[in-house]
Amino acid sequence: MPTASTNLERYAWLSVAAALATMGLKTLAWWLTGSVGLLSDAIESLVNLAAALLAVSMLRVAATPPDKEYPYGLSKAEYFSAGTEGALIVLAAAAIIATALPRLAAPQPLEAAGLGLGINVVASGINLAVALILLRAGKAHRSITLEADARHLMTDVWTSAGVVVGVALVFATGWLVLDPLVAIAVAANIVWQGVGLMRRSVAGLLDSAIPQEDRDAIHKIFTEYSRRYGVSFHALRTRRAAARRFISFHLLVPDEWSVAQAHRLSERIRELLEGATIDTHIEPISDPASYDDQKLDR
Ligand SMILES: [Zn+2]
Repeated sequence: MPTASTNLERYAWLSVAAALATMGLKTLAWWLTGSVGLLSDAIESLVNLAAALLAVSMLRVAATPPDKEYPYGLSKAEYFSAGTEGALIVLAAAAIIATALPRLAAPQPLEAAGLGLGINVVASGINLAVALILLRAGKAHRSITLEADARHLMTDVWTSAGVVVGVALVFATGWLVLDPLVAIAVAANIVWQGVGLMRRSVAGLLDSAIPQEDRDAIHKIFTEYSRRYGVSFHALRTRRAAARRFISFHLLVPDEWSVAQAHRLSERIRELLEGATIDTHIEPISDPASYDDQKLDR
């Protein structure tokens, strides 16, 4: 466990380095071209830096082992990072729109577009590379923090692509209003991405169930074991806490089974649901009282 957490934090530090590099490059690009799109891009990178630093600290908190005060662990700390990242993305979009709107009314000429574009393409390449690495690590370790950071960086790649298109269109057509127009279109897309991250984080904080395909797999095990051993199951409840998963269910066994026998079966099911924290309540299958608690909440 400590090894894995150290690894995750290392990915977040990669994101910090990428944010610093792209921020420097994009500020230079804006300084050279005066393009509002490039400026908004540089502002976006500042948000990346804050988000990456938050990801580092929240991954560290999330890796803290459970203790007396936090017996279920602190894995949900990842949602603070992912949710805040979503909010920061929305704010960055607002900043882009606020900067672009005045330029819609009074378009200003762009200078040295070619050089600015080149720098921006390099910065996007850095973001794209880091985003792909983080996305992979996030999926492998079920870390919403790394995944959110990756999606955020991918958003930047699309933003930059939009900016490049905007500057190129101005360069080709001489129609200056295209630069702020493209920036606004990209900002709308960013809002969408940010809201999505916030929604997922809130769902996690509110103990949403594990993914449907995982629940289907559990039901499959239940069906198989019911058929094989004459047992039954009810009151399945699942929740996720970022990388951790919690599963609880009632196991109804034939009345004559010993405690040891029932426990052995529940342990076998636990092995099948590897990686999750499992609570089982064992009940006699023919006692009517066993069925009073089938409802999800009693
Ligand atoms: Zn029950």
